[in-house]
Amino acid sequence: MGMYHPPVDEHETVVSTALHVVAATHYSRADDPHEDAAYEYSIEQLALAARALAEAVDRKPADEQPIGWSKDEQGSELHHLRQESLLLRSLAQEFRVPLTNTMGGYGEVVVRRWTLAEDRWQVTDGSMTDPKVWIDGQWLSIGSVGLEKAHPYTLDEALKTAHQVAEYEGATFEAWVKATKDAYEYQCPQCMRWAFWENGRGTQHGDEVDEFWCPVCGSESRASLCERRPARGGGA
Ligand SMILES: [Zn+2]
Repeated sequence: MGMYHPPVDEHETVVSTALHVVAATHYSRADDPHEDAAYEYSIEQLALAARALAEAVDRKPADEQPIGWSKDEQGSELHHLRQESLLLRSLAQEFRVPLTNTMGGYGEVVVRRWTLAEDRWQVTDGSMTDPKVWIDGQWLSIGSVGLEKAHPYTLDEALKTAHQVAEYEGATFEAWVKATKDAYEYQCPQCMRWAFWENGRGTQHGDEVDEFWCPVCGSESRASLCERRPARGGGA
């Protein structure tokens, strides 16, 4: 590590012009008719000298500049953020991308790393039992694909793919919920009111059971336990 030695001429000029400014402000004589002009001249000279010094320091090798001089140098905010981002990427094993639907963010697409040693990732539905991976535009069982082929993506590719899948799945889920909602009314076992299935999760999105969320009392029930009747007029 080098050390900072100021460029002699530029440094001396800054010091002497700064002293002129001090003299013009602290030691000015009220009876001096040139007082204002001397002050204005001195502050301009100081700014010019400071610029010359900064430019001279810029021309020095990085390791001979003052610590923190370069914006990319260690200690700067940007450098810190970059390092943190790299560290997170190197340590992360998993990212979760929520489905982009308007039904309340149910479900997610999971980006999962094979091993920490490699930048190889899978895009999966995150299911505990029989997980699926997204490859070539479709969900395939990891069991049938094999681990090797299940991780075809770099992190960047996997995240991009996951966002596309989340958008697609979100829209599909929304359409499914809407179709279900429009087809039937359900009776809430808690408050006994009939209501459309406005909300709730389903088995096709990894839940154990389909759940009916009652918009009247707010309770959640197994849809299979609810009385169901065809909706009159095809929905609200
Ligand atoms: Zn209810």
